[in-house]
Order: sequence, then C-alpha cells, then structure tokens
Amino acid sequence: MFDLTNPIFFDADKAREHLGSINWPNGPVCPHCGETEKLKRLEGQSHRAGLIQCNNNACLKNFTVTVGTVFERSKVPLNTWVYATHLLTSSKKGISSHQLHRVLEVQYKTAWFLAHRIREAMRVGALAPMGGAGAPVEVDETYYVSFEAAGQHIGLVPGGGPQGMTSPVAYWHVPDIEAKLAEVTAAGATVKDPARDVGGGRLVATVTDPDGNVLGLLQDR
Ligand SMILES: [Zn+2]
Repeated sequence: MFDLTNPIFFDADKAREHLGSINWPNGPVCPHCGETEKLKRLEGQSHRAGLIQCNNNACLKNFTVTVGTVFERSKVPLNTWVYATHLLTSSKKGISSHQLHRVLEVQYKTAWFLAHRIREAMRVGALAPMGGAGAPVEVDETYYVSFEAAGQHIGLVPGGGPQGMTSPVAYWHVPDIEAKLAEVTAAGATVKDPARDVGGGRLVATVTDPDGNVLGLLQDR
C-alpha cells in the first residue's frame, strides 16, 4: 500500500515535480495572470528551486508550484510536507503531532505547524463547500487532501482558491461520480472540471458551490 521508497517522500525536487504534474496536467500556469505560453523556468544556483518567470508583459511575476497552497513560503522541504500530508490523510484514527515529530524526524514545533496547516487546509477545503452547495454528501472517514501516491490523491486544483489561485481541494469518495455531479449541480453547484480518469480506475471531478468554494469528488472503479 504505502510505498515509502517513493522518492516524493524524501526528495524535495521529486516532490515538486510530482506536485507540478498534479497541479498542472497540461503544463505550468501563472497563478497571477493565467499565462501558459510565455513562461520560463529559472534554473541555476541563484534561483529558488522550481521558480518560473512569467513573461506576459502585463504580469512579469515569478512563481512556483506552491504559490497559493499551504506549502507556500515554507522552509520545510516539500517532500516533508508530502509525507506529513500523506500520514495525516491516510490515518483513519488520526495522528498526533508527537507521532509526526517522531516519524518525520523534525522538531516537535515543526510537526505541530505542519499538522495545523494541513488540517486547516482540509477543513477549509472540506467542510465549507458541503453546506454551501446545499447538498449533503456522504463523507468517507478517509478523505483526501493528498498526492497521487500510495493510493492517495491530492487536489491542488489550478484556479481553485481565492483570487483564482491554486489551493488544496479535499476529495470525497463517492460511489457514482456522475450521479453525485448531477445531484450537486441540481443543488446550485457548477461543474468546474468534469469527471476525468486520473489512472488506476480513479475518476475525479471538481465543482464550485454558489459561494465559490471548490470541492472535489472521487470515485474508485
Ligand atoms: Zn503571469
């Protein structure tokens, strides 16, 4: 199940690449202006890893895949975030900051910070949209703000957050994604990304509720 040898759990570059592939399935998108063409990867020692320059004349800002996510501006390596997120979302009984501290081999206060930020992202992405859409959905005890690793999926949906920025989206397990899409749209939500196959027989879709919150639906076939 949980493949600890997966490099996204111990290599920050691999974790970043992985986030990129989830976040930008069709290539990078500037989170400031939406530019997809005039983008340049800034390589070399003088730049932060993963930095991309937007050459749209109206923008000219730099960004990385973590802009607008809970991982933004963190000194904690991305792979540690990935690992922490995996542990927090895959444990049905929950996991304490003390356990994270031991497993991740980080300081307790760092573990506490990670747990706090990730749980907050899950709460914001998870609970708010459900009431807003006026559509009660069965929530599996394990819900997902995670990465496509070891049977987990993270939703870092482009344009999913405030100001069109990237933000984590929680995914609900549903038995029939098309039926659930019909149900929530009937309740006032709009389909943001129709159901698509992300591999392994897994379908995901995202919808926006009337308040602009984004939530994800996930079906394993
Ligand atoms: Zn831009």
